[in-house]
Amino acid sequence: MTAVLTVKDITVRRGGRCILQVDSFFVQPKEVVALIGPNGAGKSTLLTILACLALPDRGELFFANDKVTRKNALAVRRRLAVVFQDPLLLDCTVLENAALGLKLRGQKQGAKEKALRWLKRFGVDHLANQNALTLSGGEAQRVSLARAFALEPEVLLLDEPFVSIDVISRKSLVSEFKSVLTGTGTTAVLVTHDFQEVLALANRAVVLDQGKIRAQGTPQEIASHEVWGSLTRGIGLP
Ligand code: ADP
Ligand code: MG
Repeated sequence: MTAVLTVKDITVRRGGRCILQVDSFFVQPKEVVALIGPNGAGKSTLLTILACLALPDRGELFFANDKVTRKNALAVRRRLAVVFQDPLLLDCTVLENAALGLKLRGQKQGAKEKALRWLKRFGVDHLANQNALTLSGGEAQRVSLARAFALEPEVLLLDEPFVSIDVISRKSLVSEFKSVLTGTGTTAVLVTHDFQEVLALANRAVVLDQGKIRAQGTPQEIASHEVWGSLTRGIGLP
């Protein structure tokens, strides 16, 4: 089976230092992979590379069988979707925001109907005509997830998407997100600090620290792994 994403020997340098060095990393179809690790571990940097928003200084990224290059990076980006901690909504209606990705990709026909279906799936269709900048944090992130799923991406990349949402709203959004992921069979890579999210959502967890992959396995394996234990000792995690 061809991996959806393949990383080979990548190095990323910033400010004169190596901030990411990954020899080998794969994401298989329908996998949900969690990237976990302390602040500054390189999680967002790796996600940025996977999203083709930056190219590594050395090494290769493959999207399915295609090697990502400066030339085809934009075309590859159209096959994936990214959700950030900040929902990045524009000053227009919720529906226009949810349909925006489709329109930018030239899929204008039926875009609003499709966007509305996804708003409904995330329980925010009643806000369709409201200005997106007036939403609560939880509502805004629901819109940003609807916008991403409307694109039917081959892989969905998420960087701490639930971190700014209060604990109560977060729990129900994580469980709705899980049911959408399972229902659509979407391949995903999720950066998170929260081991409860890893347990709830991921098939595989990858521990990054100081720019390197230190361990990977099922969430249960990582919960009892010595690397995770040494990073979380004394702070009562997971
Ligand atoms: P994480 O998402 O795991 O918190 P990041 O990938 O954002 O970590 O950052 C990894 C490390 O790289 C951090 O130490 C950060 O300060 C550093 N870094 C990221 N971008 C730059 C940059 N443009 N210039 C210098 N250092 C950077
Ligand atoms: Mg980060």
